[in-house]
Amino acid sequence: MTVSVSPSANFSLEELDKLSLFHPVTSIADVQKNGPLIYAKAGGVRMRDHHGRDLIDLGAGLWCVNVGYGRPEIADAAAAAMRNLSYYHTFGGASNEATICLADRILSLLRERAGAGHLARVFFGSSGSDANDSAYKLIRYYNNLLGRPQKKKVISRLGGYHGVTYASGSLTGISAYHTAFDMPIEGVLHTACPHYYRFGEDGESEAAFSDRIVADLAAMIEREGPETIAAFIAEPVMGTGGVLLPPADYFAKVQALLDKHDILLIADEVITGFGRTGQWFGSGAYGLKPDIITMAKGITSAYFPVSATAVSQRVWRVLEEASPRMGAVMHGFTYSGHPVGSAVAMANLDIVERDDLVAKTAENGPYMLRQLQARLAENPYIGDVRGVGLMIGVEFVADRGSRRAFSAGLGPHRLVARHALERGVLTRALPFIDVNSFSPPLSITRAEIDEGVDRYVTALADAMPALHTLAS
Ligand code: PMP
Repeated sequence: MTVSVSPSANFSLEELDKLSLFHPVTSIADVQKNGPLIYAKAGGVRMRDHHGRDLIDLGAGLWCVNVGYGRPEIADAAAAAMRNLSYYHTFGGASNEATICLADRILSLLRERAGAGHLARVFFGSSGSDANDSAYKLIRYYNNLLGRPQKKKVISRLGGYHGVTYASGSLTGISAYHTAFDMPIEGVLHTACPHYYRFGEDGESEAAFSDRIVADLAAMIEREGPETIAAFIAEPVMGTGGVLLPPADYFAKVQALLDKHDILLIADEVITGFGRTGQWFGSGAYGLKPDIITMAKGITSAYFPVSATAVSQRVWRVLEEASPRMGAVMHGFTYSGHPVGSAVAMANLDIVERDDLVAKTAENGPYMLRQLQARLAENPYIGDVRGVGLMIGVEFVADRGSRRAFSAGLGPHRLVARHALERGVLTRALPFIDVNSFSPPLSITRAEIDEGVDRYVTALADAMPALHTLAS
């Protein structure tokens, strides 16, 4: 296909891409060599690339297209909102109906579906990274107001993913996101990754593993001084780090430790929020009592970039009481509380509720997990298939008996994801551990799950000769 835009007329789209686009999280050399992959159209769980190839998206984009692609109700809501009030900001007390309703709806959902009635206000942004940046800044503001300026450090976990901006990217516990950017920033600390399958020791029970890594966290807090630690941030289920479910009793033990030292808990629900685990929120699913919850992706199913940072009564009260002497809270984005984004979010949440997608996820997620576990059980290079709701990870190992990983950099999961693409299924190769992740739209049907799993299993068979070579 050629496009006729001057001065680049007569270049193919692939060539134009290579000449003009700076791709996020992409090897420049790879795109220059192999060209981009251009998507043209999507509906439900299916996509078409611009050569007309049919694909099933078992990733829902980046864990975000929860209601599936191409919903006319959302397109209509966006168009109506654009015609009505295409934009106004929410600075200085300015507001709009859709954003007021969305804030109230999120607080109601948190209260009714996650037992989190202690959350008091919602701040809006447009990405998961900015939601975590906002949390990071607000806890500094909070501790400054409380007269404890030394209580500023934030502890995150190795393998945790919280975004890529300077603060949220520092909270991210995956070194590939830090290298060459002079990150992490000072005051961000990383504690153990809660991955029992990979880091549990021989003969160690899951509960003993939890005890050990929570003891590590306690030791870090003591070493640094509890009076210097402001917050601990965690995804209820780690996504990018490998689809890691919290080991037995982990969060109960962490929460007790944080309470003891007056350390705030930030739950990063950017992936787990709005149904992906088969419950409305991961905090509800795992009994967390966060002081701040960050959300994005599932709020709008990615039809419009919207994020939210919900703060608890405890934090809000301090900000509110200090307000007469502090003046405006000087934090906010041009697009905070965008009326079109909020209208899109409302239409999206209407679909989630009307189609009962959270309850469906609680049924279809375990079904998909069982299918994958059964079909992959005999494969010598698959050590673990785990998940909750429609968040599933397939972990590759060079040797199943010893759980020995492939040598660093070999990327068996990248190889399989490339074969999967050839077979018409999109799965992600994660950057921290050799895992293919599956996080399809929550609207996926069982027939689509079967078809997607079939394609993946075929792709895995295609990849076996190359996997043998990598493992030897
Ligand atoms: N937190 C989590 C748990 C995420 O998975 C992501 C994105 N994958 C982010 C934060 C960052 O979101 P964004 O890419 O929208 O900045």
